[in-house]
Formats: sequence, structure tokens, C-alpha cells
Amino acid sequence: MNSAAEEFDLVVVGGGIQGVGVLQAAAAAGWRAALVEERALASGTSSRSSKLIHGGLRYLESRQFALVRESLAERRTLLEIAPGLVQLVPFHIPIYRHTRRRPWLVRGGLSLYALLGDLEPAARFERLPRREWDTLDGLATDGLEAVFRYHDGQTDDAALVRAVARSAEELGGRIACPARFVRARRTGAGYEIELAQEGKSSAWRASALINATGPWINTVRERIDPVPPGLEIDLVAGTHLELEGRLERGIYYTEAPRDGRAVFFMPWKNRVLVGTTETNYRGDPRVVQPLPEEIGYLQETLSAYFPHASGKLLDSWAGLRVLPHSEDTAFHRRRETQLVCDDELHPRTIAIYGGKLTGYRATGSKVVALLRRTLPDVQRLADTATLRLPTGPLATITVAP
Ligand SMILES: Cc1cc2nc3c(=O)[nH]c(=O)nc-3n(C[C@H](O)[C@H](O)[C@H](O)COP(=O)(O)OP(=O)(O)OC[C@H]3O[C@@H](n4cnc5c(N)ncnc54)[C@H](O)[C@@H]3O)c2cc1C
Repeated sequence: MNSAAEEFDLVVVGGGIQGVGVLQAAAAAGWRAALVEERALASGTSSRSSKLIHGGLRYLESRQFALVRESLAERRTLLEIAPGLVQLVPFHIPIYRHTRRRPWLVRGGLSLYALLGDLEPAARFERLPRREWDTLDGLATDGLEAVFRYHDGQTDDAALVRAVARSAEELGGRIACPARFVRARRTGAGYEIELAQEGKSSAWRASALINATGPWINTVRERIDPVPPGLEIDLVAGTHLELEGRLERGIYYTEAPRDGRAVFFMPWKNRVLVGTTETNYRGDPRVVQPLPEEIGYLQETLSAYFPHASGKLLDSWAGLRVLPHSEDTAFHRRRETQLVCDDELHPRTIAIYGGKLTGYRATGSKVVALLRRTLPDVQRLADTATLRLPTGPLATITVAP
């Protein structure tokens, strides 16, 4: 590689929410930080999520209390620093005669959720009086026994990625996009990194390298010499449908009649967004598409809860969760982010496995805390917990629609 390589304290590979979150945190910490994204910011999973900034009520069932607590704290922070991008929305949980989760269980879950959210006003929930049932966007009332209402956050995931990227740029972070990470080689002081941009090869040098490539994480890991430690993972696809129609009263959190999994119905850009499924995936992450049976499963759930909705399919798309490998169903697997370092005492490379959109800022802070063991002490520029996220276009780069 050539001797005129640009130098950084750290380089992040991947321009999804985790990558831009680390770039912002590192730039705020005062380091010279850069990010390389192959296609467009948020072109991977980070534009194909359910777009919720939430604690994850359903993770209480798999006892992931620490994750729920941290996510609720992050929700609180994001509501403060990004009020134009993250809003509290009413969520409705209807309970029918046939619903597996009974009213006492839902009430208990919501009480625990409120407790883990420090009993702040946003954590309050209520059981709706029967007279309000007919106002709920045509929700089926046959066999309906109770409707609970609580609040959680909704965002535009791709717009959130853009806002965090812009904040990182304002703090001095550099973004190369589209540009592909080709390989990296360990040297005494860090890594020599080869990029491909507009058909040309270029070189960067960095003291630390962060792998934030979501579903591509292990492919990118193999391109680092020596190959750093990693985790065995499964990719689990989640499909969403965009349907004709409107939901005026908020989000509906239902149980799919077929298997009891959680399915959300959400207002989204003058459409109804329905998701999601959990289907094991083994192909190329770039070409993940909804399967006909997944579309059928979500449409069947729609007819069960909103029998008069037109259900006209306007669009559908799928994203990939990165979960620790296991024979267990996706539902029971841990959803926390796992950070894997080459060296716990002096990390030079860190891989970010899994995690939630909601927790991107906390993950960025954890990566920075690990890197303090390796990178120089510098003057901090900002605190991402209080720094408002900007709106408006990015300076340099291509972004997903
Ligand atoms: C169906 C579904 C619903 C979800 N819903 C929610 C939700 O409602 N709330 C929530 O909090 N979380 C949710 N999540 C989780 C959340 O969406 C993900 O955790 C998050 O988007 C992952 O972001 P990431 O940055 O790790 O990966 P990605 O967004 O996939 O980004 C990885 C990036 O790396 C780039 N890349 C790959 N290889 C290279 C290379 N060689 N060179 C340069 N760049 C490269 C890719 O182009 C891509 O842009 C959901 C996930 C799924 C799948």
C-alpha cells in the first residue's frame, strides 16, 4: 500500500446505525475517526427495521431485563436529543378470548416495563374502557375482552442514521461512501486498510478498526489479517408489508393467530406497516427478499385483527437480524449487542454483533470506553447523551431513500 495513506485513530467499517453511532461517539471523544460504507448509509438492516425506539416489551418474556432497562433509558435520551425524529406513540394490546397472553399477564408485563422505565410519565399504561373499542381503527371486537394502551417510541430508521452521521461529520468524523473495505493488515501500530472507491484502490491507516457490518460481519472479519476472534451467528430474516390504509390511533401489538408471535400494525407514511416474521436465512444478505409464505402469514394476521381493511399490498421488504448461533427459536435468543475484541486489555479491533437500533448510542459509548485502553487521551468535544441530533442533508455522501 502507498506511503501517502490517510491516518486516523480509528476506522469504522459499515454505515448502518451501529457504524454511524460509533463514528459519532469516537468523534465526540475527540479522536480522528473515519467510516467506510460500501453502498449507501442505512442500505442494510438499518432501513428495514420495525422503526421502533423501544424497551422491547416482549423481551420480558425471555427475561432480558438488563436489555429492556438499557433500551428504555436510551428511548428517554433519544426523545430528548432527537424530538423531531423519535416520537412517543400509543401502543394498543388487544386481548381476545383466544389470545394466549391473558390480561393478568399483560398487566404484569406492563407494570414491570413501567418499573424498568423508572416509572416516568411515558411508562404509564391503562386498560381502555369498552366504549372506546369502536374508535380503534376498525379493530375486530368479536371476542375482545380487553385493550391495554401504553406508549413507546417510533422513528424513521434511515433518517435517524443520516442524523447521527451528520452529527458525526459536524464533530469532524470523515465518511467515505460509497467505498468498499477490501482488506486490512495488522502492523505494529494498528492497521493498514485498503479501500476501493470509484474503481480505484486507496489506503488508510488506523490505530483501531471497528467492524460494524451487521449481516456481513464475519465476511469482513475474514478480510482482516490476522483474522480476529468472532462469534458463530445465524441470520434471521424479518419481513414487513406496506399496505394501503391508515391507522389514526397509533400502533397495535398483536399475536399472530398461527403461532402467537408478536406482529405490529403501525402507521407509516400514510400507509399501514405490518411486521414482522422470523425466518432463518442462509443466502447473500444483499438479496434478502420477503417469501410468499411470510407475506401470507402477515396478511392472515391482518385479516384476523382488521377484517375490514383493504390489505392491498403496496410494498414489502426484508431485513436480517444477527443472532448468536443456537438451535433455539429466534424468539428465545439474546438480543443484546455483543462486542468482541482481539485483546481485552488493549483492543485494536472490535466487532459489533447484533443489537438494536434503539441502543446505538449506548453501544457507541461502550466501544469508546474499550478504546480508551488503546487510543491516546484527548480533549472530549461533546457528550452524545445531550448533543441534539441535527436535521438536514449530509455534507458528502450517498444515502438510502
Ligand atoms: C426485521 C427487523 C426489525 C427490527 N426492528 C427493530 C426495531 O423496531 N427497533 C430496534 O431498536 N431494532 C430493530 N431491529 C434491529 C436493528 O434494525 C439492527 O440491530 C440494526 O439496524 C443493525 O444495524 P447495523 O449497523 O449493525 O447493520 P446494517 O444496518 O446492516 O449496516 C451494515 C452496513 O455495512 C455495510 N458493509 C458491508 N460490507 C461492507 C464492506 N466490505 N465495506 C463497507 N461497508 C460494508 C453494508 O452496506 C451496510 O450498510 C430490527 C431488525 C430487523 C431485522
